[in-house]
Amino acid sequence: MPCMLIFLLVVSVFHVGCSKVNSPENETADTMTDQKARPDNPYYSRTDTTKLDLPDSVWAVVLTEEVYEVARKKGTEKAFSGQYWDFEGKGTYYCAACGNALFRSDAKFASTCGWPSFFEPIREQSIVYQPDSSHGMLRTEVVCGRCGAHLGHIFDDGPPPTGKRFCMNSIVLDFELDGNTGGGASSLRYLSLQ
Ligand code: FE
Repeated sequence: MPCMLIFLLVVSVFHVGCSKVNSPENETADTMTDQKARPDNPYYSRTDTTKLDLPDSVWAVVLTEEVYEVARKKGTEKAFSGQYWDFEGKGTYYCAACGNALFRSDAKFASTCGWPSFFEPIREQSIVYQPDSSHGMLRTEVVCGRCGAHLGHIFDDGPPPTGKRFCMNSIVLDFELDGNTGGGASSLRYLSLQ
C-alpha cells in the first residue's frame, strides 16, 4: 500500500510539473497565460488575431478607466508622464485593450516629445490609420488593427529607415520583456508559472 501511495504522489507531481510548461506552440498554455494577464478582460489575447467590433459599453466594463479614456475616448496622456516614454527594455509592446502585438523595442527610439515613439509597427496589419481633424489640426490617427483602440498619431519626423514617428500613449501599451524574466507588468504572468 505505501508503494501505491508513493506511485500516485510521483504521478501527481509529474502532472502538475507538465501543466506549468509554457511554449509559444502550446496554444492552450498561452490562452491560460492570456487569461492570467487580464482576468477581467475576456477579449484580451496574445494569440487570437480575430478582429473585434465591440461597442464602447462593453469596453467600459472590461478596461480600466484610464485605458478606456485613451483607447475608446481618444484621450491623450500628459507628455513625460507615461510608463514607457523613456523606457529602454528589450521586448514586445502589445495593445493593452486586446493583446494585439504592435511594436518591437528595436523600432523604439529616444524622442523628445515625451511619449513612447517607434519608427515602424511589428507587422503591417498591427495597426490601422485614420484621418483626424480634431483640435484644429490635420493629423493621422493610429488605432489597433484588431480592436480599433486609439493608440496615438503618426508623424513624418521620425528617424531612418522609415522617417515615421508613431507617437503612442503608454497607457494603451502592454510591454513584455524578451526572455520572459523580470520587468514589465505583463512578465508577471510568466513569473507566476515558473
Ligand atoms: Fe487592440
